Amino acid sequence: MASNANQDPIGNLKDKLRSLLGRQDSPKQKDRLPSKAHFSLWYFVFIMLFLSYLQQFYFSAKVETIPYSQFKQYIAQDAVNQLTIGPESISGTLKGKKNSAGKAERFTTVRVNDPDLVKDLDDHKIGYSGHYESKFLSSLLSWIIPLLIFFLIWRFAMKKMSTGMGVMSFSKSNAKIFAESDTKVSFADVAGIDEAKEELQEVVEFLSTPEKFQKLGGRIPKGVLLVGPPGTGKTLLARAVAGEAKVPFYSISGSEFVEMFVGVGAARVRDLFSQAAAQAPCIIFIDELDALGKARGMNIMGGHDEREQTLNQLLVEMDGFETNKGVIIMAATNRPEILDPALLRPGRLDRQVLVDRPDINGREAILEIHSKNVRLSPDVDLRQIAGRTPGFVGADLANIINEAALLAARNNKEMVELSDFDEAIDRVVAGLQKKSRVMNAHEKKIVTFHESGHAIVAESVEYADPVHKISIIPRGIAALGYTQQQPTEDRYLMTRSQLLDRLAVLLGGRVAEELVFEEISTGAQNDLQRASDIARSMVTEYGMSDRLGLVSYERQRQPMFMPTGFSPAANYSEAKAAQIDEEVERFVEEAHQRVRKILTERRSVLDDLAHLLSEKESVQGEELRKMLASAKIGMAN
Ligand code: ADP
Ligand code: ZN
Ligand code: MG
Repeated sequence: MASNANQDPIGNLKDKLRSLLGRQDSPKQKDRLPSKAHFSLWYFVFIMLFLSYLQQFYFSAKVETIPYSQFKQYIAQDAVNQLTIGPESISGTLKGKKNSAGKAERFTTVRVNDPDLVKDLDDHKIGYSGHYESKFLSSLLSWIIPLLIFFLIWRFAMKKMSTGMGVMSFSKSNAKIFAESDTKVSFADVAGIDEAKEELQEVVEFLSTPEKFQKLGGRIPKGVLLVGPPGTGKTLLARAVAGEAKVPFYSISGSEFVEMFVGVGAARVRDLFSQAAAQAPCIIFIDELDALGKARGMNIMGGHDEREQTLNQLLVEMDGFETNKGVIIMAATNRPEILDPALLRPGRLDRQVLVDRPDINGREAILEIHSKNVRLSPDVDLRQIAGRTPGFVGADLANIINEAALLAARNNKEMVELSDFDEAIDRVVAGLQKKSRVMNAHEKKIVTFHESGHAIVAESVEYADPVHKISIIPRGIAALGYTQQQPTEDRYLMTRSQLLDRLAVLLGGRVAEELVFEEISTGAQNDLQRASDIARSMVTEYGMSDRLGLVSYERQRQPMFMPTGFSPAANYSEAKAAQIDEEVERFVEEAHQRVRKILTERRSVLDDLAHLLSEKESVQGEELRKMLASAKIGMAN
């Protein structure tokens, strides 16, 4: 039973979920470099045809094979002529017999050991000659052809492997390097990350007019690292830079190196850089750099040698590059903190550009870009959709548009309507609707009161976001129901009162259960976890506790200089730890009492709302506000 309080600066579960599900679009396969002429079955067919032709030719003269005894008889009868005696066979013509072509018919027989043969022939005055039988053709057939066939099969198999798995191409690594001479993406296709775009404008200018910069001798950044959560458009942005500057775009993904044979990764990096150098000015883009650029020596099991080799090669290539050649290295990561510090040194990826989640204007612009080819009904207001999706990244928004269009198509609509967007957002937010799941009556009752509790508290405290929708339709695996709050604006800072109000909203569900059933369920587990996270952060990070004062007891971790698995030691004493725990407890308990008071005063609304919810399964925030107004209950203090 998650309360969907949005824009939560602390442990936002939704965020984590989204980053877990974060999709990384891989570059399209279409733009590969040309591969070598590829082997085909036609070779085999050709060879087979050739062989059968040869055979036809060789044996074309019809020859009758006769037993040796009959041959001896023919000699006795003087019926043979023009003998050719080879080491293994004797052939000749038969006297008196003519074949269809009018020639004397030929015969052959297998030679047996017969010392009297020559004497017999001389007696009957039959002409004969010796013949040395060439072994050439038979050895060709028995030796060379099978070898040839084996060789061809081997080549065929190698080819198959190297294209199929990308691991056998030791010498040439073109297979996985994507080169686009024209990315067809421009800055107009990227929205909501204007600051990043501005910073990259300089790179574009440099790439399109390198002479101008070389003349003045200014130092151009050699490498640019794009940093930001998954789906914010880092890959898209890098391609847009290439598109804007109209230069070739060489890209390779860090994750592809991980499963390679030793030495291949390093060779590939070398190849990438030498190919790019020939094409300057151009961009080399290393996507998902974290897979490759993890700090060396962090692996307790002795390290991933291949990865380290590849990383070392990358560092070497970066150093060996003259920026003035007009090659700019770009890389993207969503985990800059685990990167090897060597990568970030001056002369390497020394400029970092933050690609952050878009704000409401940015979200609107992104929605506009992606709905360009979608027929929207006039009731769809992209601004309003942007308002309902704080924290969403570009990829999520593209996904919503796509889902909405699919839903509309499934319902045979002419245009995509607002209701389709509602459902698409619900799906993306809380997983797919699971209509088939049935709750028993008692469970359902608990959930209705729980969610009503969240909603009423949210509407009764001053700083909570207004409720957009309350629903008990089960979604996904964990959430039995949810209360969706709609922030009126984006927030970058939160005050103490806002945090306390958020704490209250989170406890609302649990307290409602307490009041109504005088018993509690497990459904509030996630709420309580988030509530304690907020309370703890208020005490240890934000210095909001009067008793502990302005000291920060928690530091942002910097594992860049520390192997993973070693968490920083607590920088406070045991006694302080106990005090912190006490303070956290006090914050939560005070919020608890406050919420109890709020809900006790609004008990009638709680009952009505729960009733309405069990009937309709979902209630709009507007209805709740009306109920509260008619009950003449205002804000709580
Ligand atoms: P990242 O590399 O940061 O994980 P991508 O660049 O792969 O994100 O984004 C995935 C897709 O999401 C893009 O192809 C694009 O369709 C959409 N998208 C993401 N961010 C934006 C943005 N700022 N503007 C427009 N579309 C975006
Ligand atoms: Zn809840
Ligand atoms: Mg990406």
